[in-house]
Amino acid sequence: MTLFQKIVAREIPAKIISEDEDVIVFHDINPQAPIHVLLVPKKPIPRLAEATAEDGIVLAKLLLKAQETAKALGISQTGFRVVINSGRNGGETVPHLHVHLLGGRPLTWPPG
Ligand code: AMP
Repeated sequence: MTLFQKIVAREIPAKIISEDEDVIVFHDINPQAPIHVLLVPKKPIPRLAEATAEDGIVLAKLLLKAQETAKALGISQTGFRVVINSGRNGGETVPHLHVHLLGGRPLTWPPG
């Protein structure tokens, strides 16, 4: 089981914001902004580089859920960023696809 599957199974605690049949949303344990949330498909797709056309619906759901969560957390108007780290150079540390939703402060560009 991946770390995030353990969160879905409630084997590891997390501050869960929402959950449906495909996606769980919870606060990142090491926030990089006032709002830093992870959106995780329940299907353990290892990383974006390994997603397939079969995963298209869940990939779309992740973005729509990010939009919905940004609204719910009050950062939709001020702005937010979504990030997917894929692979070593992408900065991936947990091998279970996830979308970062960050906001609550101005975010610089380019990222490090
Ligand atoms: P990435 O580096 O893109 O793979 O992102 C993994 C993210 O998972 C990091 O931002 C971590 O802070 C976060 N993380 C690791 N363990 C936990 C946990 N138990 N609960 C919530 N977030 C976690």
